[in-house]
Amino acid sequence: MSDCLFCKIIAGEIPSTQVYQDEHIVVFNDIAPKAPTHVLVVPRKHIASLNEAEPADSELLSHIMLTLPKLAQQLGLNDGFRTVLNTGKGGGQEVFHIHFHVLGGGKMPFA
Ligand code: 5GP
Ligand code: ZN
Repeated sequence: MSDCLFCKIIAGEIPSTQVYQDEHIVVFNDIAPKAPTHVLVVPRKHIASLNEAEPADSELLSHIMLTLPKLAQQLGLNDGFRTVLNTGKGGGQEVFHIHFHVLGGGKMPFA
């Protein structure tokens, strides 16, 4: 997806502060953090939103969910963390490349 902001960030065409990456996902700081720690967990595969996810994406989505605790630990979120997945315009989604927000490190509620 040549006009997708997150595809460009993943390709290194737009700078970001990466905190984690593996074969399937890239994690970087949100440019407008809504909590002391606010990162975006983004699959390398372009999926526009949860509405476009398919059964073939099951392993990828479960990989993301199971990586979150490891990531939270790496980020020092030892008390816990919030995960947000906005889907569609009505769900507050602004960037149409699926991503999970991970927020923490302060007093709830966030975002
Ligand atoms: P959404 O509303 O789609 O769930 O979340 C999009 C998020 O992407 C927002 O929290 C916004 O601050 C973040 N964002 C938008 N543009 C950029 C950017 O260029 N770089 C980074 N790191 N984050 C961005
Ligand atoms: Zn994309």
